[in-house]
Amino acid sequence: MANSSTVDVELVRQALATSTLHHGLRVLGDRWTVQLMLGTFMGLKRFDQWHVQLGIPRHTLSERLRTLVQLGLLRPRLYQERPPRQGYHATAKALAMFPQTLMIWQWERQWGERDIALPVRLEHLLCGHGFDPRLVCACCDQELQLQDLQVRLQPNSALAEPDTTGPASRLSTSGAPRMGLGLRVDRWCLMVIAAVVLGCHYFDELAQALGIAPSVLAKRLKGMVDCGLLERSADAQDARRRHYRLTPASRGLLGYMMCLSDWTAHYHLDQPSSIVPVHSPCGQLFKPKVVCSHCAQPVLAWQVQPVYASGQAAPVHAAQAEEVLA
Ligand SMILES: [Zn+2]
Ligand SMILES: [Zn+2]
Repeated sequence: MANSSTVDVELVRQALATSTLHHGLRVLGDRWTVQLMLGTFMGLKRFDQWHVQLGIPRHTLSERLRTLVQLGLLRPRLYQERPPRQGYHATAKALAMFPQTLMIWQWERQWGERDIALPVRLEHLLCGHGFDPRLVCACCDQELQLQDLQVRLQPNSALAEPDTTGPASRLSTSGAPRMGLGLRVDRWCLMVIAAVVLGCHYFDELAQALGIAPSVLAKRLKGMVDCGLLERSADAQDARRRHYRLTPASRGLLGYMMCLSDWTAHYHLDQPSSIVPVHSPCGQLFKPKVVCSHCAQPVLAWQVQPVYASGQAAPVHAAQAEEVLA
C-alpha cells in the first residue's frame, strides 16, 4: 500500500475522481438503492414488500425503481399470482452485481446496525450448506488480504468530469444524518476510506485528495471516528497533526468497494478504473471473485437460498435464472 510520507496527493485526487468506484457510487451508492437491490436479491420483488420490509418511503421507492429500470437493472413484470401482481425482477446486468451484494450482506451482519430485515443465513444450493461469502483473487483463488494488494494509479481521462470539484464534493446528499449501506456508512465514507487506502492519512491530504471544504471534512471525519470507521491518533513526529487509520469495520468494506468498482468498469461504463489493484502473491491484476466458504465455488444469485430469522425461506430466483440461461 502507498506510504503516507511519499504519497502524491494530486495523483490520488485525479485517480479518485476518475475511478469506477466514484462513478459506481454516484449511480448506485445511496442508502435506498443499496437496500433495494439487497432486498431484490434476497427475494423481494414487489413495491409493498420493499416498502414494508425495508422501510423505504413510498415516494423515494417509486423514484429509485424508475432509475433502476432506466439503468437496465430491474424490469417490470406481471407475476401470475391470484390476482396477478405487478413486480420487478433483476436483469442480467443486475445479477452481475451479486458479488457486491453478498459483500454488503456480510458486512451488515458483522458491523451493521441491523434495523433492516436481512436474512440471517444464506444457503448455497450447489453444495447444500450454509455459507459465508469469501472474496478471493480470480487468478490464484487466494483469499484477499489487504496487505497483499499493491495499487497503481492511472487516472482515466475518459471518466473525468467537466467540473473541477473534488471527487467527494459531488456526492453530498441532502443532509440525511445517517444514511448508507449500514445506516452509518454512506458514499462519502467510502471515498474517505479509499483515500486512506491510497495513502492519505492526514487531514490536509484527505482534504486535497477529496476536494472538500475543511469544515465539511472535519465533521465527516469526526462522524467516522465516532462510529468506529476510522481511528485517529496524534502523529509520532508532530503531536498537533492527527493521523487517520482504517479500523476492522472500514477494512471490512473493501470487498464491497472492489466488487462495485469491478462491476462499474465491466457492466456499466465499459472503462477501466484509474485505481488498478495488483495481487502480490500471483503478480496479476486483482479481479474479485466471491466464493462459498464451504465448497469454494463461485456463488451465483440463483444458487442462493436466503433464510430469515422467522425461519421463512425466500423463493429461489428461478425466473431470473431462466433469463440468464436463455
Ligand atoms: Zn492472485
Ligand atoms: Zn457451496
